[in-house]
Amino acid sequence: MGIEGNLETVKRRIEKAAAVSGRKPEDIKLVAVTKTLPPERIREAAALGITCVGENRVQEMLDKYQRLNDLPLEWHMIGHLQRNKVKYIIDKVTLIHSVDTIELAEEINKRAVQAGKRADVLLQVNVSGEESKFGMDPGGVYDFLEQARGLENVHIRGLMTIAPYTDNPEETRPVFARLKAIFEEIKAAKPPGVDMDYLSMGMTGDYVTAIEEGANIVRIGTGIFGPRGR
Ligand SMILES: *Cc1c(COP(=O)(O)O)cnc(C)c1O
Repeated sequence: MGIEGNLETVKRRIEKAAAVSGRKPEDIKLVAVTKTLPPERIREAAALGITCVGENRVQEMLDKYQRLNDLPLEWHMIGHLQRNKVKYIIDKVTLIHSVDTIELAEEINKRAVQAGKRADVLLQVNVSGEESKFGMDPGGVYDFLEQARGLENVHIRGLMTIAPYTDNPEETRPVFARLKAIFEEIKAAKPPGVDMDYLSMGMTGDYVTAIEEGANIVRIGTGIFGPRGR
């Protein structure tokens, strides 16, 4: 199946899962993960209505950003971000999903001040303690929020996680439920300058479960574009 058919399937499944969790399909933001794909594929996806793309490498994102600057796309950084690369993307990204250390947040703040903007970010949480070597421990989130208080040009907009890979998405349910609980807890605590708007969880193998558990951003690559080369 081509992108068009895949997109239809993804949209149908998002709609169903949204209904299960009492929401409308338009409440769920679809980030099409375009890492490793050539710009032409992104152009194709944009023509089919894709408006948000996710990349995980700075240089690759910059190349595509430049070649596709005629398209009204939102660029999302979803991969591990090195501090020394923040300066290259600060004026180009809509949302950084992968903030997991205070040092990175400090660098984003510094560069956002220079760019005259407030950078929207999500905190990446390593809920399961496995799979990804990135992401802060759930127990570290409050400390992080405390330390990030003075970073006025960093706008914390929510949380992100990557669930451990499994063939059975049901196994990811407790991971997603746990992050949703932390999300709601922070939301209720109303830390100054923090807005719990976005819960970014769910990839091709588990996005239905993630939405059922409360995700409002899903990051889908393979499910739209087919298997990646690398
Ligand atoms: C690659 C990637 C995805 C998408 O993975 P698929 O399984 O292809 O949907 C989502 N999130 C992150 C952080 C990724 O690196």
